[in-house]
Amino acid sequence: MGATYKGRQTGTFGTYNAISFNGNKIITGSSGGMLLTDDIAAANKARKWSTQSRENAPWYQHEEVGYNYRMSNVIAGVIRGQYPHLDEHIAQKKAIYERYKEAFKNLPVQMNPFDAENSVPNYWLSCMIIDKDAMCKQVRSDNESCYINEVGKTCPTEILEKLAKYNAEGRPIWKPMHMQPFFRMNPFVTKDGNGRATTNAYIAGGSVAVDEDIFARGLCLPSDNKMTPEQQDKIIEIIKSCF
Ligand SMILES: *Cc1c(COP(=O)(O)O)cnc(C)c1O
Repeated sequence: MGATYKGRQTGTFGTYNAISFNGNKIITGSSGGMLLTDDIAAANKARKWSTQSRENAPWYQHEEVGYNYRMSNVIAGVIRGQYPHLDEHIAQKKAIYERYKEAFKNLPVQMNPFDAENSVPNYWLSCMIIDKDAMCKQVRSDNESCYINEVGKTCPTEILEKLAKYNAEGRPIWKPMHMQPFFRMNPFVTKDGNGRATTNAYIAGGSVAVDEDIFARGLCLPSDNKMTPEQQDKIIEIIKSCF
C-alpha cells in the first residue's frame, strides 16, 4: 500500500487486488483488508459473498454459500482516518530502512533489495539477509531452532535470541508454504518446474530453492514507525555484536 511500480500505484494492477489492514501494516484496521477491482460484476459478487450471500427476499434466502466477512463501519472509519497520514508513515518507515542500511554497510548482510529504477517501495518492513559465508551453523525443526556460535559469523536464530533478551521483537522471513506441515506432503512447482515432494529436496543444479534460502538466512527487523533513533541504535548495536 502506497508503493508504486513504473509510476503506477500497487493495488491497481490486473483485475483484482487485495490490501491487508492487519494490525502490523502501514495503515491498519487491527485486522481485515480490502478487495480492489474495476469490475463492477466482481465487486457485486464479492459484496454478496461477504454479506452471507443473501438473495433479494424478505427473509434470509440463500442460493449459494455465503460468508460473514464484512468490515464494520467503525473499523472503516479508523482506517480512513489514517489515509491522510500514509505519506508520513512511509517517510518514517523509509528513514528506518535507510538507517539500517547505512549502519550495516560494512557488515556481510544485504537489506531487502528493490528495483530503484522502476519502483518506489512503501518501506513497510525492513528485512535483511545474511551473506552465505557469514552464516554460522543453524538447524531448525518444525518448532525450534538452534545454532553453533562462531566468531565473525551469525544467523537469524542468534540475532533473534539476542534481540529478545532486550525485549525487542524480530522474526525470521516468512516460512515458505511448501515447508508448512499442512502442505509439505503435496507436490509443488519450483523454480525449474520440477515437482518436489519433500522440504529437504534440492532443486536441479544443486542449489537450494530461493524461498528456502531466504527463510534460512533472512530476518525481519524491528520496523515500527514509532521506534526512536535511540531504540534503533540499540538494535543496530545488538546485531553488530553478533558478528
Ligand atoms: C500482511 C501479510 C500477510 C497476512 O495478511 P492478512 O491480511 O493478515 O491475511 C501475509 N503475508 C505477508 C507477507 C504480509 O505482509
